[in-house]
Amino acid sequence: MHSLVFIKQVPDAAQVRINYETGTLIREGVPAIINPFDAHAVEAAVQLKDKYGGTVSVMTMGPPMAEEILKKSLAMGADNAFLLSDMVFAGADTLATSYALWAGAKKVAEEVGPIDVYWTGKQAIDGDTAQTGPGIATRFDIPLVTYAAEIKEVDKKNNKIKVSRVVDGGMETVEVPMPCLITAEETINTLRYAPLPYLIRAAQTGVKLLNSSNTEIDADQCGLKNSPTKVKKAFTPPKREQGEMLEGSDEKTLDALFDKLEPMLKQCGKL
Ligand SMILES: Cc1cc2nc3c(=O)[nH]c(=O)nc-3n(C[C@H](O)[C@H](O)[C@H](O)COP(=O)(O)OP(=O)(O)OC[C@H]3O[C@@H](n4cnc5c(N)ncnc54)[C@H](O)[C@@H]3O)c2cc1C
Repeated sequence: MHSLVFIKQVPDAAQVRINYETGTLIREGVPAIINPFDAHAVEAAVQLKDKYGGTVSVMTMGPPMAEEILKKSLAMGADNAFLLSDMVFAGADTLATSYALWAGAKKVAEEVGPIDVYWTGKQAIDGDTAQTGPGIATRFDIPLVTYAAEIKEVDKKNNKIKVSRVVDGGMETVEVPMPCLITAEETINTLRYAPLPYLIRAAQTGVKLLNSSNTEIDADQCGLKNSPTKVKKAFTPPKREQGEMLEGSDEKTLDALFDKLEPMLKQCGKL
């Protein structure tokens, strides 16, 4: 079982603040972390490797500092790490991002062998579109299983994987042929502490750099100028007024609620 997990470096949301005057995020001094859903995707791929053998590769597209999350993934049990980094990728929207990741993934497969399962997190906590995984699966023309919460079983003989996924109001179990792309929920597993052998191997394993000159990535499909999405405006929604708690017995709170609603109900002719 060969897995390739796409991981994204994101600002630690718990520490991001908003500049209310400019409506922009204050990123200065905010540590960058592996997108939390992606960490669970790495763990899921490592668990598959532990059970069925094979390899786990991880890839990120980002600036050189994104190497940090690749190292972290190696410590979690990944075997190979690829950093897709080049100025031609800068300013990419989700269309250009999924193109570059897809094209980079083909290079990874040349190095590690055919991939059975591609993984992404269900969404990035900063961009939040959840479009990148589906974008990659569409380019490969392979089955896509979103919001995976449990890997039920792998049928190696028939090359199929059975996955439970979160749907509105419940769960659904699907079986798809491999290769496929799975997007992971954080409930798919519990992250483990990195064992010492993995930490040592991570320190010894190099990250391979991919760019537009050592892959067949077409620069004319990358970066800002090839991104059809245009951000017209970014703003912070107005702060909502704080609600009021009505306390006391049921009768007392209902009376108080009625007193507050009565003028409005009269105004719109409901009373
Ligand atoms: C016009 C425009 C310009 C932009 N310019 C920049 C820019 O200069 N720099 C920048 O960082 N962002 C930029 N962005 C944002 C960037 O397009 C998105 O961050 C990116 O396409 C992924 O979308 P998302 O964050 O919504 O991730 P989602 O689609 O929600 O992510 C789902 C999953 O896909 C995988 N994934 C997503 N992104 C990556 C990645 N880079 N590497 C590996 N795996 C990934 C992860 O597994 C993640 O959990 C720009 C967006 C627009 C619209």
